[in-house]
Amino acid sequence: MDPLLQLQNVHVTFQTTGGTVQAVRGVDFTLNKGETLAIVGESGCGKSVTARSIMRLIPEHSGKISQGSIKLEGKELLNLTEKQMREIRGSRIAMIFQDAMTALNPTISIGEQIKEGIIRHRKISRSEAKKQAIEMLTLVGISNPERRLKQYLHEFSGGMRQRIMIAIALVCQPSVIVADEPTTALDVTIQAQIIQLFKDIQWKTGVSIIIITHDLGVVAKIADKIAVMYAGKVVESGPVRDIFYRPQHPYTKGLLASMPRLDGDRSIPLTPIPGTPPDLFAPPAGCAFAARCPYALEVCREHQPEETVVDSQHIVACWLQDPRAKQVYPDLAEATGT
Ligand code: SF4
Repeated sequence: MDPLLQLQNVHVTFQTTGGTVQAVRGVDFTLNKGETLAIVGESGCGKSVTARSIMRLIPEHSGKISQGSIKLEGKELLNLTEKQMREIRGSRIAMIFQDAMTALNPTISIGEQIKEGIIRHRKISRSEAKKQAIEMLTLVGISNPERRLKQYLHEFSGGMRQRIMIAIALVCQPSVIVADEPTTALDVTIQAQIIQLFKDIQWKTGVSIIIITHDLGVVAKIADKIAVMYAGKVVESGPVRDIFYRPQHPYTKGLLASMPRLDGDRSIPLTPIPGTPPDLFAPPAGCAFAARCPYALEVCREHQPEETVVDSQHIVACWLQDPRAKQVYPDLAEATGT
C-alpha cells in the first residue's frame, strides 16, 4: 500500500545576513492512513520547519525547500503552484498551531472563522456551512455550539481555543493534520484532554496526524511511530515501543534519560545531554551529534553515518549500528552496551 504522505530527502535552507542556515538536511519519513507520527527533538532541530514544508509554508523571502520530494496520496506537492497549494491547504492537509491567539483572528467571530474554510473549499451555502460548523464544535466537545459560534477568541479559555483550532482544522475533512506543539501552552490537565480529543477524533474520522513536540510524555500517549530529529536530520525512527524500550541512537537515549518518569527510581537524578547542537550555518562533516556523544568514534567526526535498519521499521543513523564499524571495532558492542 502506498503511504498517504511521503517525504524523501527534504532540504530546507534560510538566507540570513549571516549566511545560509541549513535548517532541514535530508528528511525522510512516511505516514499511513489513520497513523500518528510524532516528530521529536530539541528546539532548533528542524521539526517545525519540516512541518511547515509539508504545508509549503516556508516564508518565500528568506527560505526555500531546496531539494527533495513531498508526496500526498502520490501527488508531488513541490510541483504545485501556490494557487493549487491553497486548494490543498485546509481541505487535504490542515495545520494546528501552538497558540490560537496568534494563529486565529481575534476580531472575527469563531463561527465566521470556521465557516470561511468550508465555504472556500466546499462551495456550499452559508446556512449549510453554519450547520457543519455547529457539528464541528460539538465534535470537539464545545457545549452550546450555536451560541459559541457568535463569540470571539478572548471569550474562550486556552483549552477551548485549542479545541476551536482543531475544529477549524477538521472542518473540511482533511486526510492529514499537522499539529505543531499543540499542547505546549496548556496546563497538564487540559493537555490530557486535548490529547484524548485527538485520539477520539482519529478514531471517529480516520485522519492521520503528525504531531510536533519536545514532550515525550505526549508522544507516549498518542503516537504510533516516532521520528527523532537532531540538527536537521531524522537520526532514529520507528514504532513507538521500539523507540521507548529499545532506543539505539545515543541522542534518543539521552532524550529518554532526561525525561522524568513516574515509574522510575526517583532517587536517581535526571541526566541532561551536555553541550549544545551544532551551528547549522556550517554543519559538521560527520555526525552532527559527535561533539556531545559519549561513544563518538574517529569515523563519526569525518563521515555522516548512514541509515541502518535495526528491525523492520526501526531505522537508526549511527555508526555504532553500522555493520562495517563493528568489523573495524570488534569491542564496540561491549564498550557501548549496544
Ligand atoms: Fe555518536 Fe558516532 Fe553514533 Fe554520532 S554516529 S551518535 S557520534 S556514535
